[in-house]
Amino acid sequence: MRKLFYENINLTDFTATVVSCEAMEDGKQYRILLDATAFFPEEGGQSADKGTLNELPVLDVQIKDDLIYHYLEQPLEPGTTVTGHVDGEQRFDFMQQHSGEHIVSGLVHNRFGYNNVGFHLSNNEVTLDFNGELTPEQLKEIELKANEIIYQNLPVEISYPSKEELAALSYRSKIEIEGQVRIVTIPGVDVCACCAPHVAHTGEIGMIKITNCQSHRGGVRLNILCGARALADYNKKQDSVTAISVALSAKQDLIADAVLKLKEDMLRQQERINTLQAQLLNFRVSTLPAPSECENAILFVDKMDTIAIRNTVNQLAENYTGYCGVFSGDEETGYSFIVGSKSKDCKELAQILRTELGAKCGGNTPMIQGSVNATQNKIQTIFSL
Ligand SMILES: [Zn+2]
Repeated sequence: MRKLFYENINLTDFTATVVSCEAMEDGKQYRILLDATAFFPEEGGQSADKGTLNELPVLDVQIKDDLIYHYLEQPLEPGTTVTGHVDGEQRFDFMQQHSGEHIVSGLVHNRFGYNNVGFHLSNNEVTLDFNGELTPEQLKEIELKANEIIYQNLPVEISYPSKEELAALSYRSKIEIEGQVRIVTIPGVDVCACCAPHVAHTGEIGMIKITNCQSHRGGVRLNILCGARALADYNKKQDSVTAISVALSAKQDLIADAVLKLKEDMLRQQERINTLQAQLLNFRVSTLPAPSECENAILFVDKMDTIAIRNTVNQLAENYTGYCGVFSGDEETGYSFIVGSKSKDCKELAQILRTELGAKCGGNTPMIQGSVNATQNKIQTIFSL
């Protein structure tokens, strides 16, 4: 079969003859072989081209034993001529990403000696795995150089060297493969064995942006964006920056400082709230009947920090012999509570709260914690039983 994408990379519309059409086992798809195709299959970590055959959507394109199969929901009659259309926008996008990947991989290989050991290109993301670690400074250096190579608009050359020429050639992805090896060369930058479609000149890539780097199997995994994807990402991030800048009344290039300051302010305010809560709880404790007058000590307070509540329960349990509880919240949204006791079994109380008030709680004999939707009166009744 003719692989039309190797004859003309920009060809999106073609006619071909149906060689075979088989129903798949699930009965939902048909596997179609043509005598020629412009569809590039899923291969080498890259998703398949999208498009149509006789205006029917091509769901997937796979290669097996050098034959390219198209998967459709409807059958096509063998022997008939079909018209094919490849989604040119996605093809060009994939070419931008893939050629960009070669530049980054070539630069990393030449500068640091690491190999690209994993590549994934889909509509959602482009990832590159290297078998060595890269620092943020090194990544900046690579990104800068990669973009300079785009400005230089270097040719992306495709060649099919003989076995002898290959043996003498130094290139990435050098593995023993049967048949003709296809070499993609960006002069002075990269030489790599690759079967995928590429742009003709590096300028077509537009730009390369490394957006993420994380540790991966002793090396790193990079996320990159090329061409229109990089611009779309810039737009999305610009929208975020604008929104944050407006919300914080800060200049766009100073929003990081403004967010950090906001976080520090919040921490200081939280500390102040904690102090005030502790003071309030102390005051509320002082208004309770004296330990000589009652066994249980129960307080109802507005929503408060769990640590402050637990401290108060512990403080009460030192002085009161019965159950000591703090219920935080209100009757409308319910209460969270902690109950402790030095002499009584809080697990027994938990059972009563569950049965009588439908409380959700757990814990152990000296202390239980949970939540309940009930009125103050009903809760207090339980403690006066
Ligand atoms: Zn490649």
